[in-house]
Amino acid sequence: MEHPENEDKFAGLAVNKGIAQPPAVNPYFHRKKQRQLYSAGEYVEGILKGDISILSQAVTLVESQVPEHQEIAQEVIEKCLPYSGNSLRIGITGVPGAGKSTSIDVFGLHVLKRGGKLAVLAIDPSSERSKGSILGDKTRMEKLSLNPKAFIRPSPAAGSLGGVARKTRETIVLCEAAGYNNIFVETVGVGQSETAVHSMVDFFLLIQLAGTGDELQGIKRGIMEMADGIIINKADGDNLDRAKLAQTEFRNALHLFPLPPSGWSPEVLTYSGYYELGIAEVWEMIDRYFDFVKKSGYFYEKRREQEEYWMYETINDHLKSNFYNNPEIEQLLDVKQKMVLNSQQSSFTAAHEVLLRYFELMQGKSPK
Ligand code: GDP
Repeated sequence: MEHPENEDKFAGLAVNKGIAQPPAVNPYFHRKKQRQLYSAGEYVEGILKGDISILSQAVTLVESQVPEHQEIAQEVIEKCLPYSGNSLRIGITGVPGAGKSTSIDVFGLHVLKRGGKLAVLAIDPSSERSKGSILGDKTRMEKLSLNPKAFIRPSPAAGSLGGVARKTRETIVLCEAAGYNNIFVETVGVGQSETAVHSMVDFFLLIQLAGTGDELQGIKRGIMEMADGIIINKADGDNLDRAKLAQTEFRNALHLFPLPPSGWSPEVLTYSGYYELGIAEVWEMIDRYFDFVKKSGYFYEKRREQEEYWMYETINDHLKSNFYNNPEIEQLLDVKQKMVLNSQQSSFTAAHEVLLRYFELMQGKSPK
């Protein structure tokens, strides 16, 4: 429509025609279809082809608590197993701020230069307890996350530490079947999660910092004992001397530990993740380790032991959740807990009675 002020009796600027108001709702908007579930065979086919999208969806099923998802996931894992195992599995730990993300970014690019593919997985027990994770959801590995040969997956969130770890372990199987021949499993060096990571990797790398005075404080002896390599990060600038000093201290401390079952004496190196100094040396150490344990046969022995460990872990996990998720047991536990707290029954008798009831309930039932 012509604007009235464009008539001759008005002088001045011409008023342009307006435009029709666009609709409030985007006409191109389509509700996203709910992602359909494939059959186990289709997942396996996609995974073996190295299809990242199918792999991610399969990992989501592994992490899901929905029984239907779990059923497919277990079948997928079973079918991928014959294609798994062909990778170097490396656990990386360190307290928050030690430089794990920075280091994994450069270590990752370093291994990718040699060819192959890399999957970075995480086990973060904090995500369950505090609902916020220390290892973070933000993209922490900036360069690696842009690399098409890298698959980065944050920690599964739900469940007990054992459950979370088991899911990561199952994810390793899928990644290996998809052709990822380098697997990093990252965890925070503050709790029991190291034991879980240790039981699924071939090499365990501990990232340490210097310059905090007493270097050995704050890391649990157990973690140091598990480490196949200790690397002191931030050996740059003013911090270089302190890093070298820490290196000597760690070497001395390691002498006090008995030689680990691998027969490999853990090495202590300094490097800088940020300035990318000493990265090749760290990987030379890791290569030396793999040569050593493959020659001695320890590599294969450890993997067999890990299989055994995970069989028992899986059984324990299932037994526990079957017990605690039984509605009648839940109620009975409530009652018994109150009785124990009020000193009406001893903890032993209460436990015994709850277990007896559980076994009664389980008579003739097969596990789900
Ligand atoms: P994370 O919590 O273990 O993942 O640690 P980050 O990788 O996020 O690093 C924590 C902080 O240390 C960041 O501000 C990094 O920039 C810094 N940082 C990491 N590596 C180095 C290093 O080699 N040298 C120096 N000077 N700073 C570093």
